[in-house]
Amino acid sequence: MSDTHTRDREKERQEQDKRIAEQLARIKHKFLIMSGKGGVGKSTVAVNLAAALADQGYSVGLMDVDLHGPSTVKMLGLEGEPVKMSGQHLLPIPYGERMKVVSMAALLEDRDMAVIWRGPLKIGAIKQFISDVLWGELDYLFIDSPPGTGDEPLTVAQVMQGARGIIVTTPQEVSLLDIRKSITFCRQVNMPVVGILENMSGLICPHCGGKIDLFSSGGGERTAREMGVPFLGKIPIRPEIVISTDQGQPYVLLDDKGKEDFSGIIDKLIHGGTKE
Ligand code: ADP
Repeated sequence: MSDTHTRDREKERQEQDKRIAEQLARIKHKFLIMSGKGGVGKSTVAVNLAAALADQGYSVGLMDVDLHGPSTVKMLGLEGEPVKMSGQHLLPIPYGERMKVVSMAALLEDRDMAVIWRGPLKIGAIKQFISDVLWGELDYLFIDSPPGTGDEPLTVAQVMQGARGIIVTTPQEVSLLDIRKSITFCRQVNMPVVGILENMSGLICPHCGGKIDLFSSGGGERTAREMGVPFLGKIPIRPEIVISTDQGQPYVLLDDKGKEDFSGIIDKLIHGGTKE
């Protein structure tokens, strides 16, 4: 590689870092939503937290960096909405008056290609994605990453200074075991953990209102205590969440029960936790 080429690459990198810093300076709070396993409700939580805060009058962004299984756009009924450009920047898709959404997968012409993306290529794409989306001023940005501790959460943790982790689990032992790895990962990359959220915590019977602990209960709180991180709260299994997800509408906007389920957690995000 020639000296000129190396210098050009370095200049490009510095310019990108500058763009990232400028973008991030306009976002007050950044949360990376993580889980040890797939299917525990990480994207559902990301979508509902974002929608609930937008509903309360905050300006909110939702960024989906999951190339393989992006679901947030679908959960908001925005599938197929084009991502527009403004100069060199990508414009996120508006959802209601105060929420903006962007998914990396929406930018790929052929989604199947994502499957063969290797680490360095993926890291470069995510970094570019962070630097080039024009969010504007935001109170909160939620980043939905794939489960585990792979390239996507690692890139976000390294590039997004000030991001904090929210870890979603079910009360089942298999899921709890994996979130210990997520917490260790956050410590290794110096990303503060806002707390653990226990999803699918008991099934509320739609007929009698009674609670059935389908995947057990209380494991999230216990793990939080054992690992020395805050516990954010529990969301029960609700058939309405499945329906609203499939209809492309966040549960918190459809139902008072949804608002109630998330209200304690939202309060902790607004008033509690580590300051950046
Ligand atoms: P992940 O992002 O962890 O892979 P998702 O958010 O895609 O998980 O959720 C997986 C499925 O579980 C979805 O069909 C979603 O509607 C459903 N789900 C998530 N949380 C709940 C809940 N609390 N009650 C009922 N269904 C839920």
